[in-house]
Amino acid sequence: MAHVYVTRELPGRPLELLRSAGHTVDTWPGELPPPADVLRERLRDADAAITLLTDRITGELLDDCPNLRVVANVAVGYDNVDPAVAAEHGVWLTNTPGVLAETTADFAFALLLAAARRVVESDRDTRAGGWKTWSPTGFLGPDVHGATLGIVGLGEIGQAVARRALGFDMRVLAYTRTPRDVPGVSRVAGLRELLAASDFVSVHVPLTGQTQHMFGRDAFAAMKPGAVFVNTARGGVVDQEALVAALRERRIAGAALDVTDPEPLPLDHALYTLPNVIITPHIASASVATRSRMAEMAARNVIAVLDGKEPPNAVNRPAEPRGR
Ligand code: NAP
Repeated sequence: MAHVYVTRELPGRPLELLRSAGHTVDTWPGELPPPADVLRERLRDADAAITLLTDRITGELLDDCPNLRVVANVAVGYDNVDPAVAAEHGVWLTNTPGVLAETTADFAFALLLAAARRVVESDRDTRAGGWKTWSPTGFLGPDVHGATLGIVGLGEIGQAVARRALGFDMRVLAYTRTPRDVPGVSRVAGLRELLAASDFVSVHVPLTGQTQHMFGRDAFAAMKPGAVFVNTARGGVVDQEALVAALRERRIAGAALDVTDPEPLPLDHALYTLPNVIITPHIASASVATRSRMAEMAARNVIAVLDGKEPPNAVNRPAEPRGR
């Protein structure tokens, strides 16, 4: 029997799966992540951890948790754990690919539509008593149909967004690292070229050393005047000061962000003062079915490792896995 620590209450049946595999489970009950000292103390005796993006798992922490064999992140991204460092410690790191692309793409498209057609801004105005009459000039925005969407990072989510955009009769361009033929999508060789041609830009790259601040002053300057920027990837991909400047100077028309740096974004941040910005609290994958599937997938990864098998969704490969 092994012990699994789960860093937050999760939807679906992950605990049932773990218990019926014979393991004991302890879950952090708080609404906020466990503080670092609590995490360290709880993981010290654990054989496995189910973690979220908000839990930083460092090499130092892994040194302190000699029994820990697997860190199963309930996310497709894993910038909270360095896979190589985990592997050096003999610890598997797993993620949840393939189950959240469609749900995340739905949300990216919802943000795109909401920003273009000023859904949030007009709702706010209506509630504040601003609806006086039908206005021929009120809340005008760009059309989505017939416009050009530039997708940055044509992986699972980027491709799912492309399918939605094609259904809206958009022209779809993509810039990505590895060339990939996707029906209806035109590949462009450079990011600048994509930005100069797109009415909407939607970001779907992971946060890496290469993509950190990929969207800075130069990128926003290269965008079409009046373009709309959508980010459901990671906040660190954007230099937020450069984004604020581009919005203030009206070089771009608006931005819709499901991810920021840091998260949560402090309430005194300049982005909140701009009416043409939508900010949501990292909820692109938050459908009941998808979040349940993600949590159950993490549990299955844990069960595999505790059974002495390779986890189905490994993102690293320890040369000498712990517990063997
Ligand atoms: P994916 O399938 O791995 O796709 C990522 C794409 O980005 C790949 O095509 C990759 O190219 C490309 N890429 C990587 N580095 C690049 C670079 N420097 N320049 C251009 N393209 C680059 O991942 P996904 O499932 O679509 O997810 C993408 C990201 O979305 C995740 O990493 C995560 O951070 C974020 N996400 C956010 C939410 C949310 O709730 N807001 C939910 C899910 C995911 P290669 O083929 O060469 O690797």
